[in-house]
Amino acid sequence: MHDPNCIFCKIAAGQIPSKKVYEDEDLYAFHDIAPWAPVHFLIIPKQHIASMAQVGAQHEALLGRIMALAPRLALEQGCNPYPEGGFRIVVNTGAEGGQEVQHLHVHVMGGPRPWLKG
Ligand code: AMP
Repeated sequence: MHDPNCIFCKIAAGQIPSKKVYEDEDLYAFHDIAPWAPVHFLIIPKQHIASMAQVGAQHEALLGRIMALAPRLALEQGCNPYPEGGFRIVVNTGAEGGQEVQHLHVHVMGGPRPWLKG
């Protein structure tokens, strides 16, 4: 369930400090250490899943919870309301998908433009 060498498993377990946005039994959300946008946080499952490439039918509920949580946290963290505001969700997957940390994470980005990336 947890990879002892995984930085995001350690963050979810509180072994590495992070700026927490949200936590429940299954999920952990925290501010990205190098934000691309005025609001930029990550939502991760506490369970170690390496990437979207490993996601299957057994993860439907977990992924659904992440996606349903994102809009609420986006507003709480300062994203402006839809439709003038909004946010971007990104899930980099694998080397060619630009993934650097091998623990599934959903980027949620928003706030007034310009952003550093995008
Ligand atoms: P990705 O390229 O999709 O794998 O994104 C990994 C993200 O994790 C990057 O945006 C990093 O800035 C972020 N990150 C890496 N280490 C930490 C950390 N210790 N705390 C918060 N965010 C981190």
